[in-house]
Amino acid sequence: MQLHAVPVFHDDRMAVADAQSFSPSAGKPALVVRDWIDAGLPIDLRPAVAATPEQLSLAHDRRFVDGVLSGRLPNGFGNTLATVAQSLPFTNGAMVAACREALANGRVACAPVSGFHHSGYAFAGDFCTFNGLMVAVMTLRREGAAADVAILDLDQHYGNGTDDIIRRLGVTGVDHFTSGGHGYTEGHAEPFLAELPGRIRTWAGCSLLLYQAGADAHVDDPLGGWMTTEQLARRDRLVFQTAAAIGLPVAWNLAGGYQKDAAGGIAAVLGIHRNTMRACVDVYTTAAAAGHTAPWR
Ligand SMILES: [Zn+2]
Repeated sequence: MQLHAVPVFHDDRMAVADAQSFSPSAGKPALVVRDWIDAGLPIDLRPAVAATPEQLSLAHDRRFVDGVLSGRLPNGFGNTLATVAQSLPFTNGAMVAACREALANGRVACAPVSGFHHSGYAFAGDFCTFNGLMVAVMTLRREGAAADVAILDLDQHYGNGTDDIIRRLGVTGVDHFTSGGHGYTEGHAEPFLAELPGRIRTWAGCSLLLYQAGADAHVDDPLGGWMTTEQLARRDRLVFQTAAAIGLPVAWNLAGGYQKDAAGGIAAVLGIHRNTMRACVDVYTTAAAAGHTAPWR
């Protein structure tokens, strides 16, 4: 059953205009959503409900959660800005909502957010404060859903925080693949893409796939990368096509992306994320025939 549009969980409060950071991630949700709308991509905007401190503490040390939210402990950008702290419940809540919706519709949902996978049980770092991937998994677990889940983290960097939470809490039933832990270079891209469908098919028994469609794996990324624009677009298409074929619901988010043009704009990053949404629209929606197939290059 095709969707009419891709559910996207967004709230203006999840974006921070100036996180005083090299990373544009905190300001990205609003820009990405605006870009998708301007491109005519069929998305179904829904409100993101803020995650509660109790919910965040299902994956994190409560003292760490309270310390960051109250501004006593630094966030993942290394500062204690109240605007950043206030955005975090919404970015994490959006991922929880996307997971719930993907489980409910059996297909797909998106949280246009970043900043999760370097956040561990009691630490923040590298632009990540709370680990929305594990907050979502642990929230679903508490509700009796998602006994077995897979996390496909194709950001450029190693998801050390995700592994830390799994280890510290002794979490079972989560198969976590993080491409950043493998030291891939450009020569690995085609073999990786060839193996990707097979990797996803091993998760056929899982109830949900969480997918981080990182844009910083691009060859031109200052913190990347090993794939071209075309390869990243193919990566996303393979993930959605394979998951759809085996009936594995997907909740996906943006993760990193640090290319900037001379004027400081993030057009290249927006282009990569647009290709991800375009692939998602093509695989899951009735709009596929409406001409959304030409990827940005
Ligand atoms: Zn990254």
